[in-house]
Formats: sequence, structure tokens, C-alpha cells
Amino acid sequence: MKQSRFDVVVIGGGHAGADAALASARLGARTALVTLRKSDLGTMSCNPAIGGLGKGHLVREIDALDGLMARVIDQAGIQFRMLNRSKGPAVRGPRSQADRALYKKHMQAAIAATPNLDVLEAAVEDLLIKPDVSRETSRVAGIVTGAGAAIRAGAVVLTTGTFLKGVIHIGEKRIPAGRVDEAPAIGLSDRLYGLGFRMGRLKTGTPARLDGRTIDWASLEMQPADDEPVPFSFLTDKITVPQISCGITYTSKETHWIIEENLSKSAVYGGAISGRGPRYCPSIEDKVVRFAEKDRHQIFLEPEGLDDPTVYPNGISTSLPEDVQDAFIRTMLGLEAVRIIRPGYAIEYDYVDPRELLPTLETKRLPGLFLAGQINGTTGYEEAGAQGLIAGANAAALAGNGAEILFDRSEGYIGVMIDDLVTKGVTEPYRMFTSRAEYRLSLRADNADQRLTPRGLAAGLVGSERAQAFHVKHSALQSALQWARETTLTPAEAGRHGISLNQDGRRRSVVDLL
Ligand code: FAD
Repeated sequence: MKQSRFDVVVIGGGHAGADAALASARLGARTALVTLRKSDLGTMSCNPAIGGLGKGHLVREIDALDGLMARVIDQAGIQFRMLNRSKGPAVRGPRSQADRALYKKHMQAAIAATPNLDVLEAAVEDLLIKPDVSRETSRVAGIVTGAGAAIRAGAVVLTTGTFLKGVIHIGEKRIPAGRVDEAPAIGLSDRLYGLGFRMGRLKTGTPARLDGRTIDWASLEMQPADDEPVPFSFLTDKITVPQISCGITYTSKETHWIIEENLSKSAVYGGAISGRGPRYCPSIEDKVVRFAEKDRHQIFLEPEGLDDPTVYPNGISTSLPEDVQDAFIRTMLGLEAVRIIRPGYAIEYDYVDPRELLPTLETKRLPGLFLAGQINGTTGYEEAGAQGLIAGANAAALAGNGAEILFDRSEGYIGVMIDDLVTKGVTEPYRMFTSRAEYRLSLRADNADQRLTPRGLAAGLVGSERAQAFHVKHSALQSALQWARETTLTPAEAGRHGISLNQDGRRRSVVDLL
């Protein structure tokens, strides 16, 4: 290791860790991102897609603060769709499927090109803790790797996702793991329990991956991408990645019958898992039991890449044994002869009660330690990235004696999410929805830059390229607004533009007409 002291150490190179490390480095803090494998930076553990309802708002807000997620998906998105297009602008949700390999490639390139940021490959086993005499307490002082190396830091951001005492369940099989084929983090979990953090168990799941070459695509309905893909980033002019369609199939009565017959073998239903799962992203076992009156459920068959035959069947996450997965999947139209590349599984893991956190995402119990992402009881890449950005920025601010960087509920979905987490805690994996934001009419995905980029500029979080682009847009908007205030029309003049008014002879400004 080149040096053993940094301003900020970020543990974990997932979606929270990447945006945490980048935010910290942008603020000028010497930052180390310590993760199990460099090659895993940018890994999408589950669904290869970014955005969606509420989540798309978060991605635009990350972008407005110069975070990475939006620019990376713009370079890796293979099916852009604006969800809720028929509804008002406030609840429209940008979403794109990702080419997994491209997402990783562009994430890794962006991280490698970031000044002030070193990526170190190691399993972090413990935290260094030292007495904080001024506050009559202890504070974090760095990390210790599994190989026994100590790295000192002014602040530490912990973003280990589903790895804390993770256990994978496939039917009756239990495999200690943080993700498939990756070891769980035990030491860090023990340390947090030892410090007295309130913690619990949550669970989530993923479906089997299918070999697209064995799917009968000709028998399926297909869903195309939008004709004109709308980029996520305010800095992207045009999407140039080729766009693909995904297939749509349905479960059937036979599918449901096989699942019901085998419910006792499901880890979720057989009693092997105690943690609560995401209510809004239920397993297929959950759907069959909770919506017993439904004869079928829609399943999207989403290719995982332009040159990758792997297909993600969105909607059938499961912890049933492999032979049962094989049997029920083959009952669906188009999947009669499908080959399963990897079975679905459920994973149970430790999370920390987010009421242990301040709004900066620093823990109250151990000053200098920040938590972000799935470890805080959330689910989803977008929720993780947004928390990472706030935790990384505040860790850098703390290490450099800078001011806290906080957002209110009225300013953005980031403010809503963090306020929800730190004041209410979670009883199930937390995901973002537009309904959580009481100011949602003004917090649109399309105005995230106007709401947040000025705050990011003031905090030093926004680089020169975005600053320039923002100033150009801002002055164009100001000129247009001034023109609209100063330009007035009589009812007769307005009528010539197709606007019908009372013929009262009054001149009205364009702003009043709008
Ligand atoms: P992760 O992306 O998990 O990243 C954690 C990082 O920490 C990894 O890079 C890992 O290598 C590193 N790490 C762990 N321990 C250590 C250590 N001791 N030392 C160093 N590095 C360490 N989200 C959805 O929105 N919808 C879903 O349907 C969904 N299903 C999921 C199913 C499964 C099986 C899994 C695993 C996740 C699922 N998710 C889903 C969640 C989504 O993957 C996460 O919410 C998101 O990846 C969380 O980001 P994160 O940065 O908190 O953690």
C-alpha cells in the first residue's frame, strides 16, 4: 500500500461506495476506496436496470450534485423508457436497462480517472477506534484489513450492502455469502454489535438467470425502447448505445400450482429466513400466496447485455430449490425449453437501524463513522448511490473541518429519503416512491439540476464542466423568463396564437398567460 493514512476511507465498492468515494474526492479529501475485488466495482447484484418511479428522481439528483450514476447509465443503457409518460411531469420516472459489462466498464473508468482517489483491494475486518477526549467518547480512526494492515483516516464510510453476516438460501441449502460466490463480512458485523448499534436482519432475493438462446422469442410480445431515449444526466446530449427490446411472458395456473405444491421447500416460506423482505419487490412465492385470486403475473425477459446471452426474468425472484425453479419456469410461454444459467436465491443480512444516524449519515454512537446504502435498511442501487454521495461528502467535510452538507425534504428526494430513514427507521427494505415526497409537484426529475446544482456548487461538490453547463442553461432560462414577463399581448393578439381569452382589451404578460 502506498500510504496508510487518508482523509476518508470508504469500505465497499458497490453503488453507495462508488458515489461516496467520488463525492469525497471531489471535495478534495484524499480518499481510499477499499473493496473486496477491484473487478467488482460497478457490479449490479440483481436487476440490470437503473431508475424507475421515484428512483429515477434520485438518479437525476445524484447527477445534479455531480455524482456518477447518471453518466454511467447513459453510457451503458440498452433500453431507455420514460415510465408514467401518460401522467403529469412530477411522477414521470426515467428508467433504463443496463448492459452489465458496459456499466462496470464505464464505472471503473470513471473511478480510475478521479483525482484524489485510490482503490485498494482488501477485505476489511475491523475498525480502528481511538478515544475522543473533547467529546468524552471514542471515535473511528481507520480500518484494519483481513491481512492485518491498518489504514488510518479522519472519517470512514461503511457501505457493505448485503455482506454483513450474509446467508444465501436456495431451498434448504444455506451458504454464508455476501453475494453469490462472495464471502460475507463477519468481523465488521461483530464490531458494530459490540459497539451497541441497534441492528436487525432483512432479506431480499433474485431470480434465476436464463440462457436467451434457449428462449422462443418469436412466441412473445416484445416491448421496445422509447423512440427518442431521454438521457439521465444533464450533461448527456444524446444516447448513442444501441437500444433493444425485451420480451414479455406470464406465469400461468400451472406455474402457480407448482409453486404452491412446493411452498414448504421455499426458504422464505419454510421458516428458514426470519428477516423481512421488500414488500414492493416480492418473490414469486409471495405473489402466489398474497394474490391468490390472480391467474397470472406479467414477467419481463430483460437481456443483460448487447453481447451477452444472459436474460434476467424480472418478476420471479425465488428461494425455491433448483429443480422446482426449473419446473415452474418452463411452464411459461416462450420458456418451455429454457436453460437456467444460475438459480435464483434469497439472501438474509444484518442491517443497522438508520435511527442510529444523524442526517449527515454519521453514526451518533461512533463519531467519524458514516453508513450508506443497503446497510441502512434500504434496497436499490439508486437509494444506495444517493446515500453514498451524502455520506461521502459529509465524511470529507468532517475530515477537513468543512460545513455539513444537508438537504431538506422540500429540496429533493434525497432529503426525503434521509429524513425518513433517520427519523422513522425501517421495518422492511426501504425503497423510494413519489408518494413519499410531500412536495412532489415541485420536486420533478426534470428540474433536479435547478433545485440542487446551485447547492452543490456552493458546497464545492460540482466540477467545472457541470458548472459551465449549468450556468449556460440557467442564463437561458433567466432570459426566457424575463422575456415572458416583459412581453404582453392583447386578447386579439393572443387569439392569433390559438389562445382564446375574454375580449376585455387588457394586455397580459406571457407569464400571466402561462
Ligand atoms: P453493494 O452493491 O452490495 O456493494 C457492497 C460492496 O461492499 C461490494 O463491492 C463488496 O465487495 C464490498 N464489501 C463487502 N464487505 C466488504 C469488506 N469486508 N471489505 C471490503 N469490501 C467489502 N435492489 C433493488 O432495487 N431491487 C431488487 O430487486 C434487488 N434485489 C437484490 C437481490 C439480491 C440477491 C441482492 C444481493 C441485492 C438486491 N438488490 C435489489 C439490492 C441492490 O443490489 C442493492 O440495493 C445495492 O447494490 C446496494 O448497494 P450498496 O452499495 O449498499 O451495496
